[in-house]
Amino acid sequence: MAGLTHDMLPHVRRKTSLPNPKRDSIEQFRDYFRKEPKVLEMLLNKVKVCADCKKPCAYHQERCNSCGSSLSQVSISHTDNILLSFVLGIGKGKFPFKISVRFQDENCLCFDDPLSVSAVHLCCVPAQEYVPDLRYLFGRPRRGRRMLELLYNSAAKACLENYWGDESFQEFYLGGKVKWKKLLTESELFVLTAAGMNYPPSQYQLHVQFIHGPLLPFHYALFLEGGHFHYKRFFPYSFLLASLNALEDDNRDFRNSHPDYDMDLIIDEMEKFYGISYDKHWHAMISQIKQMQETHAPSAEKDFEYRVVGNQVFDAQAGFHHPGITVKSLQTSDVKRIQSYGRPYDTDEKPSGGSYNFPAENPKELQDWTE
Ligand SMILES: [Zn+2]
Repeated sequence: MAGLTHDMLPHVRRKTSLPNPKRDSIEQFRDYFRKEPKVLEMLLNKVKVCADCKKPCAYHQERCNSCGSSLSQVSISHTDNILLSFVLGIGKGKFPFKISVRFQDENCLCFDDPLSVSAVHLCCVPAQEYVPDLRYLFGRPRRGRRMLELLYNSAAKACLENYWGDESFQEFYLGGKVKWKKLLTESELFVLTAAGMNYPPSQYQLHVQFIHGPLLPFHYALFLEGGHFHYKRFFPYSFLLASLNALEDDNRDFRNSHPDYDMDLIIDEMEKFYGISYDKHWHAMISQIKQMQETHAPSAEKDFEYRVVGNQVFDAQAGFHHPGITVKSLQTSDVKRIQSYGRPYDTDEKPSGGSYNFPAENPKELQDWTE
């Protein structure tokens, strides 16, 4: 189903205004640090850029996880590390780096993902440390566990304070059905969320994805076809936490024993030595997402004007074909309708945003986990 007709979707506005960026463009930044190869390297990602929607995807992905297009003919390229640019307070790259910040402090930055797949889709990144991807957590399990918890807890706090604290959001997504009304504790509400990290990521700065249901029908359909939360690419929070705790207790890490460690090796060893099964955690998350969607999605068929079959659009009620309407345009407008990203909108009805408040004075001050 696509083409939301619902006019009453709640949008949660940010309560505080955000500062302007402390630095200008990424090009000026590169020029200033041109004699620092380490800094220049930190600012790049290795990716496949989707030919249709231009989203940078992980280089080994088969299909774009924003629009579903095939990536098999796309070659590997380098893109700007946007997440690292955010925490360095850089103002723009190929487009302005306006962030819809929901929580920030000296340690981390949490914001609405502009490519939301659900009603609340938050992303949380470390702000004073350079951690290219989640493998580095396994290199320093104690610090890694703390970092993981910091990012997850900050996203949860941002979600609670911004969204669950909003009356219209409560009413629309959590109310209506009697049984949801008593769901008021954090732990119960967390059942409505899928959280974790991707490896390899599309942006090489560690980030927790915090996705609160319901998913948009298009993204739920993509999820059912295996297009989201990819097996052995998406690492559920519960799996990461259990693994890092076990390594910490055992005083063991992957840094010295396996200099070229990859996630497949980590998955195998966690199962072999600690009985922590990636498959179990991943399947539990998948069933939880299905459950969340079935019991909880407020969108009924009547809330959509169109039905999508393959890449054809049909009228949901009368059933006739709409050759002039593209599936992509419907998805784009549905995402805009559901998301609170950039709310309140500015005077020309465009998403608003700002910059990170506490960027490091010098990128070399970031604690580098690759060293
Ligand atoms: Zn795409």
